[in-house]
Amino acid sequence: MKVPLMNLCAQYEGLRKDIQKTVNDIMEKQAFVLGETVEKFENEIASYCRTKYAVGLNSGTDALFLSLKALNIGMQDEVVAPAFTFFATTEAISLTGAKPVFADIDPETYNICPKSLESRITKKTKAIIPVHLYGQCADMDPIANIAKKHGLKVIEDACQAIGATYKGKKAGSLSDAGCLSFFPSKNLGAFGDGGMLVTDNKELADRISILRVHGSEKRYMHQEIGINSRLDSIQAAVLRVKLKYLDGWLDKRRQKAEYYSKQFSSLSVSCPHVADHAVHTYHLYVLRVEKYSEKLLTFLNDNGIEARKYYSVPLHLQACYKSLGYEKGDLPATEKAAEESIAIPIFPEITTKEQDYVVSKVKEFFNTKKT
Ligand SMILES: *Cc1c(COP(=O)(O)O)cnc(C)c1O
Repeated sequence: MKVPLMNLCAQYEGLRKDIQKTVNDIMEKQAFVLGETVEKFENEIASYCRTKYAVGLNSGTDALFLSLKALNIGMQDEVVAPAFTFFATTEAISLTGAKPVFADIDPETYNICPKSLESRITKKTKAIIPVHLYGQCADMDPIANIAKKHGLKVIEDACQAIGATYKGKKAGSLSDAGCLSFFPSKNLGAFGDGGMLVTDNKELADRISILRVHGSEKRYMHQEIGINSRLDSIQAAVLRVKLKYLDGWLDKRRQKAEYYSKQFSSLSVSCPHVADHAVHTYHLYVLRVEKYSEKLLTFLNDNGIEARKYYSVPLHLQACYKSLGYEKGDLPATEKAAEESIAIPIFPEITTKEQDYVVSKVKEFFNTKKT
């Protein structure tokens, strides 16, 4: 038996007719960039995330980069972020000319630790980027308090967490700017790259709307230097079809996750911890295994189960950040999580049979002392 980490073909199965029709409409109109469909989708996302504005962009990376730009962050500035995340979080900081400063994580939720974050603040710090990792919101209240105390902006990297909530509020709506990704593998995935910025700040939304078209509000008039980062109509059309199903899919992800957690309760693995403040959306279901993670990973892969490490090399130890001067041991909770965590297959359409197979192989690994 083979179980993939995710299965987009299974999702497409139920949507084929609607998506083909809507994409066909766009093809007939031959209007591909921004436009009416993108505007409709922006309004729907703003309403879904309960923010006033939403700006469609080319990717989540661009949402992060343009948020920082629009908040005037650049050379000489520092931005604090976790090192246990996808590279784009801090790549966006580096691209503005600012310096990423890495904070450690809470070992239970994998999200930025407010205490560690506060210890990294200097006179140069301008902003904080908490990441809602794996689909669970970071502990935003203490982060907001720290930001207020030190006069910092907060940008949420909500790329993995659309629909997740923190004390009842939606991911993306908890800070100055929320960044979403519609990369195909995300919980709401396009047929290519896509992203969005959500915010209640009109000035910020307006400025990012200008930055995404080469810093131009009026054709051929450039008031500042921007980039090309527009959302395509075809992507918006596909995403509008999928958005209607999103909450149902997130419910299914939670059901599947709870099923796993129940099955694993007797084993020496740690299942995802759901904080009191959070409704988790399980973009990934990540097990944590002391000492034997590498062996378990190989065993699962050898048995046709697509398990993977997210993320095996934390960002402070990446080659490109060597000049920042971090060393192994600087972020103990991050480094331990990088060693011990394994994502196993989860997606709304995963069958009980597939889950039972994964469970049986994890159990077999521990029972037969392949350790
Ligand atoms: C996917 C992701 C991004 C980047 O999104 P893209 O749309 O691929 O550019 C940023 N941060 C995190 C945590 C992500 O998972």
